[in-house]
Amino acid sequence: MPVWETLGPVTSRHAAPPMSASSGDALRKHGRLPAPSLEWNAEVERETAHLYARVKNVIPAVEWPFFAPTIKAINAVKQQRNAVILAHNYQTPEIYHCVADFVGDSLQLAREASRADADIIVQAGVHFMAETAKILNPAKTVLIPDLKAGCSLASSITGDDVRLLRERFPGVPIVTYVNTSAEVKAESDICCTSSNALQVVESLGAERVIMLPDEYLAKYVASQTKVKIIAWKGHCEVHERFTPEELRLVRANDPSVQIIAHPECPPEVIAEADFTGSTAHMIDFVRQHRPKRVVMVTECSMADNVAAELPDVEFVRPCNLCPHMKRITLQKILDSLLHMTEEVVVDPLIADKARRAVERMIHLKS
Ligand code: SF4
Repeated sequence: MPVWETLGPVTSRHAAPPMSASSGDALRKHGRLPAPSLEWNAEVERETAHLYARVKNVIPAVEWPFFAPTIKAINAVKQQRNAVILAHNYQTPEIYHCVADFVGDSLQLAREASRADADIIVQAGVHFMAETAKILNPAKTVLIPDLKAGCSLASSITGDDVRLLRERFPGVPIVTYVNTSAEVKAESDICCTSSNALQVVESLGAERVIMLPDEYLAKYVASQTKVKIIAWKGHCEVHERFTPEELRLVRANDPSVQIIAHPECPPEVIAEADFTGSTAHMIDFVRQHRPKRVVMVTECSMADNVAAELPDVEFVRPCNLCPHMKRITLQKILDSLLHMTEEVVVDPLIADKARRAVERMIHLKS
């Protein structure tokens, strides 16, 4: 059924959210490390050859000398620090395939963050993901290599907005997408990701559910359930740029092409797709079906990451990049590990409330 009601700000809020970071506690606790050599030589080439094999389909050999010394340095410093790197599916291949310890969508990364036993978690993703890692594993030092890596969805709603919605719809459960600040999570009953949004909504046994803040994800879930969905006017600035016209053009050029879309896309884009799912489900679809040609209607780097693994599949673009995800680079990851910047901190009272909402989602039986 269509969404029951959509609320939200009159103008979109694309500004980065206020960021939280400590002022050097992590550096005092863990100390600074000297800068390693970033020289390209035969030893670096030999020691990184196994990593280049993973990305040779998407990174030309001529570019490898620019990446390899930093990759080698990051992997060495990671061991010295007893750190792990969690990388989202939208990170670039040299990060995703060559320095990450765990990769995945928001749900997979949240699960890994909750069970990480390293001293330090480096989030190669955006700020709300680092906050989620800190909420789920508060004893660890959580670093984000660029504090300005925000998210238009997270910026679209505040804790005050959620409190007002609760007043307006007393007794109606509130589901918030993980793409929100800790403060917003703390005001909600349960979180969801694009992997489990339908399951979370239906698990509540309610006639009506408030689903925040992604209007298009809410519309997609509403189309799959009898639960009445009250939505918010938040949008992902990457997925909202796709159009049905560009997908129709791709299909007209090759009717056999498979089009797979993320549910953060507008409904008219999803209507053109052969399959809709989270980034993890999209990757599984390509692994299982091995289409000859495929369009992944999501952030562009994900196609590169899958192409590195599946050279027999041709990935057709439109290509939209997330400017926030692209703030994370190899050099910033290395600097983050050397100088312990930027540490992500969450007010313990807010973290306790937010943890209940995130853990309720994680422990939902699948
Ligand atoms: S791709 Fe969209 S939802 Fe993901 S971090 Fe970027 S702006 Fe946020």
